[in-house]
Amino acid sequence: MLSIALHGGAGDRNRATLSPERDAEYRRTIADAMDRGYAVLEAGGSSVEAVETAIMVLEDATCYNSGRGAALNSEGKAELDAGIFNGTTMQSGAVAGVLRIQRPISAARYIMEHTPQVLFIGAHAEAVAERGGLTMVNNDYFITDEVRELYEAGLKARAAAAHAAASGTSSSTEEKVILGTVGCVALDARGGMAAGNSTGGIMHKPAGRVGDTPLAGAGMYAMDGVGAVACTGHGEYFVRTVAAHDTIARMRYAGADLVTAMDAVLASITALGGRGGMIGIDATGSIHLPFSTSSMVRAGRNSAGVRVVEVW
Ligand code: ASP
Repeated sequence: MLSIALHGGAGDRNRATLSPERDAEYRRTIADAMDRGYAVLEAGGSSVEAVETAIMVLEDATCYNSGRGAALNSEGKAELDAGIFNGTTMQSGAVAGVLRIQRPISAARYIMEHTPQVLFIGAHAEAVAERGGLTMVNNDYFITDEVRELYEAGLKARAAAAHAAASGTSSSTEEKVILGTVGCVALDARGGMAAGNSTGGIMHKPAGRVGDTPLAGAGMYAMDGVGAVACTGHGEYFVRTVAAHDTIARMRYAGADLVTAMDAVLASITALGGRGGMIGIDATGSIHLPFSTSSMVRAGRNSAGVRVVEVW
């Protein structure tokens, strides 16, 4: 059985105001990433290679909050996190707070496969990636005009809200958020399972803040014979619930099926006041894509004939 699932970020996109062009762009790019990852699996490639391939496509696409088009931190910089997990070897690699690595997911894989460490941060992560021969860019490479405008508009909305709060009036300026963290899980022909994620985090995040995305067990986890899970949403909640690991643990120790385990973990996040979504596949290649926000760009495909591409 071959199986792959992807997310392009859970969040409260507004169906009434999202342009048909952007809706179509989401569907086109996530389907393209899915098919490129699936082609790796069909050619006998590993789940790790499929996950990296699919995420690279999404890092390059500007409509997602990863690589080019990423959200900006409080200093107006794209500060990126990515992580990958190999469910066969139980190895993981990750980078956090990087400003110059063109494809953070490839740096995560490099760290997993070429160093004894799991996670590198900031300039040190960049040095490891550079030594590994990965492509480095200026931070401007990641910043699109659209994201810069949303960042500036967000600053104004925040100032207006602070002013309104101070003067006891209400502010009508709605802050638009950047959504679109990306992730992928895959099952290869040898039964190998893998999970990965890449993000710019949350718009206007304080510099140095790291969410669940690159953290093994929180943002992603995989174990051959059990399943693979990747998360998106308000990262602090996924870290505190160790969401991806909790899902696999429920399946492994309590015998829960994929749907029951994922829905229970998402419910535990909701109970704490957090929102988001998850993508998961089990060892039989079944796919589950739950979310508690208004939207999650998502896609899934397996060799049993399933093919899903959805936004809402
Ligand atoms: N989970 C990511 C973070 O908290 C954001 C997202 O998935 O949209 O950094």
